[in-house]
Amino acid sequence: MTCEPAEPLRLDYLIRGGAIHPMTGETYHSVGVRGPEIVAVSADADGLDDLAGIGTAVVDAGDLTLLPAFADSHEHLMEASRNTLLVPVDQARSVAEFTGLVADAARAAAPGKWILTSIAWHESNLAENRLPTLAELDAAAPDNPVLARRGGHLAVVNSAALRAAGIGPYTPDPPGGTIGRLPDGSRDGVLEARAVYQVAAFAAGPSRAELATALGTTSAAYAALGVGTIREAMINLDELLAYQDARDRDLLRVRVRPMIRVGSELTEDAAIALIDGLGAGSGFGDDWLRIWGLKLVLDGGAEGAALEQPYASDPGNSGHLDWDPDVLTRVCAEAAGRGWRIGTHAVGDRALRTLLDVYEAVAAQVGPLPPWTLVIEHGMLSDAAQRDRAVRDGFGVTVQHPVLWNMASEMLIGWGPERTRRVAPLDQWLAAGADLAAGTDLVRPFNPMTNVWGMVTRGTKSAGIQGAEHAISVATALELYTMGTARLNHEQDRLGSITPGKLADLVGYPVDPLAADPDDLPELTPAFTMAGGQVTHDPDKRLAK
Ligand SMILES: [Zn+2]
Repeated sequence: MTCEPAEPLRLDYLIRGGAIHPMTGETYHSVGVRGPEIVAVSADADGLDDLAGIGTAVVDAGDLTLLPAFADSHEHLMEASRNTLLVPVDQARSVAEFTGLVADAARAAAPGKWILTSIAWHESNLAENRLPTLAELDAAAPDNPVLARRGGHLAVVNSAALRAAGIGPYTPDPPGGTIGRLPDGSRDGVLEARAVYQVAAFAAGPSRAELATALGTTSAAYAALGVGTIREAMINLDELLAYQDARDRDLLRVRVRPMIRVGSELTEDAAIALIDGLGAGSGFGDDWLRIWGLKLVLDGGAEGAALEQPYASDPGNSGHLDWDPDVLTRVCAEAAGRGWRIGTHAVGDRALRTLLDVYEAVAAQVGPLPPWTLVIEHGMLSDAAQRDRAVRDGFGVTVQHPVLWNMASEMLIGWGPERTRRVAPLDQWLAAGADLAAGTDLVRPFNPMTNVWGMVTRGTKSAGIQGAEHAISVATALELYTMGTARLNHEQDRLGSITPGKLADLVGYPVDPLAADPDDLPELTPAFTMAGGQVTHDPDKRLAK
């Protein structure tokens, strides 16, 4: 009797040479990939040579350092993708440039078609440091409704948009919103909070197919920066379908873990009905597209965060809470009881204190929950007692240095220097024993190495170093940005480190970030990115077979 020899393990990729930092504390010098998975690692560059055969791409990468691909704990890929289909007023540096871009779009559009702008603009980037006026938008687009949303809470529109939305001189403000007026009582085209949605409801946006195509292009831009996974921080159900289209058309170049929005504009019954109607639950999907859970928003950002002490720039204002805490508790308890994971946006210290009360009440009602079930999104302002509560109760925190990097100047005005310096003190959270997962929240492809540099130096875009004492090490920053997010996604057994049996999500850099001067990191970009054994970025064909 003879025995057939076992099928030899033939690698698809054997990558050998440079340092391989698996995020487990060791260093390897070769890694083997077969199908979507890492199947072998070795401390020796030639340690896996026996596993190479015909069809194996042998990659000599002695000049590269390999890391697990980055996993962003909180980013808005859908919004970033949609922005590519919108008028790019975020590139304007003056009101004339802004209205010129709107005018170009209006000339190219059929009369009556809505002109929608990117939401990623701010008047502080315009030379005049003011919003475009209704009259300026009317001149730019006399025959097309224009909706220029700025972030989530403000928009400017033209007269055609007000007409299309049925808003006249006597239309009342919606609850929780304002439709702005000039001193003479006429409309000024500025919409705040709920009024933005009142008008946006009339504006037809990009189609599902257009969004799916844009998700492909934009996800490729993230992959080119070394990203393997994005936890998508807020979508509705139509947008989930666009994600499914993109996945079915094999367009996604990063893994996506969506959070489905449960809006504070809903009544308690409507919120619970929405959750009941979702059908699927947290964890449903596959390795490329898997639902993370629900997303709720408790307060604003730099301009609306619920603070314990008033705004430095406005002593009568301490921000807003978007949910009644008792309603939020009941909605979260219903969701957690059905097995949903919940991430709640809480930026200010008053929002964080309220959210801790809510989550503690939910946990008391529903019983013990696995780690990373009730998640604090941002928690930017915190005190030691709040951090201790989050740790004791097992509520993980997603942290995004790029928000401080981007918004420090606005925070210095609104929150003052003392609070700005202690935004997201990662050292303090870690000293308290917190579960953290790092991400960006910038609504555009952002170099993860700039983020790592920021966590390590507390550097910002235009306001220097803020709170140097809260810096963490490069190794810790990388860990939070790989394994941290894998734990957040309940995928620590499949992603987050270079370990046999895990998915082959790898990124190769021409500099070893663990050995480099941190100031060499912000501009560092990868030579290649791989996700699940598929090459998602390889401009120099380093992985070519
Ligand atoms: Zn966000």
